[in-house]
Amino acid sequence: MTHHPRGRVLVSGASIAGPALAYWLHRFSFETVIVERAPSLRTGGQNVDVRGAGREVARRMGVEDAIRAATTGEVGTRFVRADGRTIAAFAAGTSDSDGATAELEVLRGDLARLLVERTVDDTEYRYGDRITRIDQDDDGVTVGFEHGPDDRFDLVVAADGIGSSTRRLVFGEEPEIRSLGLETTYGTIPRTASDDDWWRWYNAPGGRSITLRPDPHGTIRAAVSVVTDRRRERAGSDRGDLDAVRRRLHAVFGDAGWEAQRILDGFDHADDLYSEAIGQVHAPRWSDGRVVLVGDAAYCASPVSGMGTSLSLTGAYVLAGELAAHVHHRDALRAYERIMRPYVTRAQRLPPGTPRLANPTSRLGVAAFGAAVRVAALPVVGRLGARFATPPAEAIDLPDYAHLG
Ligand SMILES: Cc1cc2nc3c(=O)[nH]c(=O)nc-3n(C[C@H](O)[C@H](O)[C@H](O)COP(=O)(O)OP(=O)(O)OC[C@H]3O[C@@H](n4cnc5c(N)ncnc54)[C@H](O)[C@@H]3O)c2cc1C
Repeated sequence: MTHHPRGRVLVSGASIAGPALAYWLHRFSFETVIVERAPSLRTGGQNVDVRGAGREVARRMGVEDAIRAATTGEVGTRFVRADGRTIAAFAAGTSDSDGATAELEVLRGDLARLLVERTVDDTEYRYGDRITRIDQDDDGVTVGFEHGPDDRFDLVVAADGIGSSTRRLVFGEEPEIRSLGLETTYGTIPRTASDDDWWRWYNAPGGRSITLRPDPHGTIRAAVSVVTDRRRERAGSDRGDLDAVRRRLHAVFGDAGWEAQRILDGFDHADDLYSEAIGQVHAPRWSDGRVVLVGDAAYCASPVSGMGTSLSLTGAYVLAGELAAHVHHRDALRAYERIMRPYVTRAQRLPPGTPRLANPTSRLGVAAFGAAVRVAALPVVGRLGARFATPPAEAIDLPDYAHLG
């Protein structure tokens, strides 16, 4: 059945983890097919960070310079009042470029595009389809699709995000998806003359926050967030149809002030809306026979961790490397989990109060948050804060697989 020396792998999801995995699998002589539910590559979302080990993996993929060239040109973060006046400003240089630990920020969609461009010649991409059936036997996996005919693989990888339906198909019972009690919707809106290159952050009472960020494409990336009841909320992405999401946003943010109305109008026409109830995936195991999870499907740490993309890049690298290093997939999947678990555990540990502290509910809370960011803007506090809040991006010894590729 196998045409390639090391086997044929099906990957579900073409965002960050999927294409990164395809890159490394090809380097290690696997044949790879990616199936993506969306009809074409999804370009939505805001900046994601490529840090520490994730950045080292990007370097080993030869994509680091391209990421740097695609950065958004954001000059810093500015907290604003309803009338647009600045409460406090943090220039990008003070927290982002601490010598060697300077990190890369890139739009999620641009990073996905860079990874797909580097794999499209050697990987078969099947858009507009998804896995509906997985039958494992001793020699491989037979996979059924919503549209395409059945196909046969040596291994199946779920890289289809926090709400992975492949994970559900295989494991039956869902892993714990821990809600952080915040719902965020991202979208791209037209840039106007009043926009600048700051990340502008506005808090409204009711646990609402609104942000605007520049992008390198002449448009503006907007996000609106609202705190929710985390005990009743189920974390996940893209729930419900987008018109229902738009109606809900109008109801929740209609009276929020600042640029809310402009953003709601923009979202009515945006074709890249992405809505998620922020949460973390805590799966007790990442594989079942010949099916394995990678990226958010396995260990989503949430956007507030700043680690999602680095975990995905690192996880893809380690999974492919271990598959190449072992004869039997069972040993490879065990090694993948052993190497990645401690890193994931560290990344999922969030500072106390996250993300509610930054989304206060009362007027008093909003004012207190404003006062706190004003204090934090003092240079010395800013530097200390950046150290304290820096995610554990280096907390893994990346194996070297160069001899295998
Ligand atoms: C459109 C979009 C916008 C995002 N915006 C942000 C952001 O602004 N900030 C942030 O921190 N994180 C954002 N994220 C999440 C971020 O990409 C991830 O946290 C991280 O990069 C890990 O990526 P991943 O590849 O594991 O999963 P994801 O990035 O979630 O990608 C999963 C992919 O699988 C596809 N998919 C889902 N179900 C199926 C299925 N059944 N079959 C086939 N394909 C399927 C999805 O369409 C998507 O392309 C966004 C994700 C998406 C999809």
